[in-house]
Amino acid sequence: MEAELKSLLSDLQSLKDSLPDPSHQASVAKIRARLEHIKLGNAQRSKIKDMSAEVVDSNPYSRLMALQRMGIVDNYERIREFSVAIVGIGGVGSVAAEMLTRCGIGRLLLYDYDKVELANMNRLFFRPEQVGMTKTDAAVQTLSDINPDVVLESYTLNITTVQGFETFVSSLKNKSFRPDKEGTGVDLVLSCVDNYEARMVVNQACNELNQTWMESGVSENAVSGHIQLLVPGETACFACAPPLVVASGVDERTLKREGVCAASLPTTMGVVAGLLVQNTLKYLLNFGNVTPYLGYNALKDYFPTMEMKPNPQCSNAACLERQKEYTLAKPARDAAARAKMEAEPLVEPECLHADNEWNISVVDDSDVQDSNAGSGSLPEGLVHELPSADEFQKPPASAETTTTTIDDLEDLRKQLEALNAA
Ligand SMILES: [Zn+2]
Repeated sequence: MEAELKSLLSDLQSLKDSLPDPSHQASVAKIRARLEHIKLGNAQRSKIKDMSAEVVDSNPYSRLMALQRMGIVDNYERIREFSVAIVGIGGVGSVAAEMLTRCGIGRLLLYDYDKVELANMNRLFFRPEQVGMTKTDAAVQTLSDINPDVVLESYTLNITTVQGFETFVSSLKNKSFRPDKEGTGVDLVLSCVDNYEARMVVNQACNELNQTWMESGVSENAVSGHIQLLVPGETACFACAPPLVVASGVDERTLKREGVCAASLPTTMGVVAGLLVQNTLKYLLNFGNVTPYLGYNALKDYFPTMEMKPNPQCSNAACLERQKEYTLAKPARDAAARAKMEAEPLVEPECLHADNEWNISVVDDSDVQDSNAGSGSLPEGLVHELPSADEFQKPPASAETTTTTIDDLEDLRKQLEALNAA
């Protein structure tokens, strides 16, 4: 096919060169451009052995490797060693899979039992011509085109069935991708399912395997969502603080009202997928803070965060096992933390901008706290997050204060003008 296109292109080129009339030449050039486009569209890029930081248009990894040069990530190339399992390839899971594929993740394991429907087209990722394909196969088709370097595994199964659960667990344990890896064969499991039953199954498998996972969800009215990190024994598992519907043992399928369907928005799902993969990258590549829980309220643009400790009375036996192990390992953890602190002596942070023409000074947090002492009456151990917020809220006490403010503003305006002129 490619050889045929190539010879067709060269034939067109000679035809174009032989034509005396420039207007005819243009139409041949147009045909040639269209053929060129078809050729590019059909050609899948070949695999790339080593990630390179070389800045050329043909390098799909140059922008990602730049994270290293910018000092965000120590070793970006490590991403190729990691395996991530995504359970549920719907509005959140498919987008998360695409993001990880574009980031050059080593291996993706995709689980879903459903098929692509036209009703999914309000979301990102799947295309109308994929209707009828299983979601996992359609995802592999698209993802392998985007980045052939990623090892993709498609599991068309329902993890809530006995057989499905067994295959799910054994696929997580498979270490053929990286035989020297400790623990299971995957680095992280992402739960992107839309019901509690499936979440409880992921929770069960991860507690049994001592596997760290992240959970995600979008509300039925499509305007809120969350992501959560679950480390067996260390943080609350999904059964430690179950939603009421799970705790009361009601079958959630009986709660679904006939003819009423859940709403979904590509925006909310895209935001939640982005938060989930951002946390995944931070966790895998070891940068920034990995968030334990992050909520998203789209109506108020409110992002609550919190941390949840495991419940010593959790109903999940495997969770209690992991909690016991975590407590037993505490002395070893403390010793390792102490050794690490001793190995890295505290270095005074260097002042980066000692001389600046705008006279901006960066104040140490503790100084702000001291200057604020006495002004507030907070209980011991609590500090104001915005130390001087109260100062700004005071109404001007007299006309004199107002004049000063105006003078200050006038002064500031002059300074800004001077800066602009410079
Ligand atoms: Zn638990």
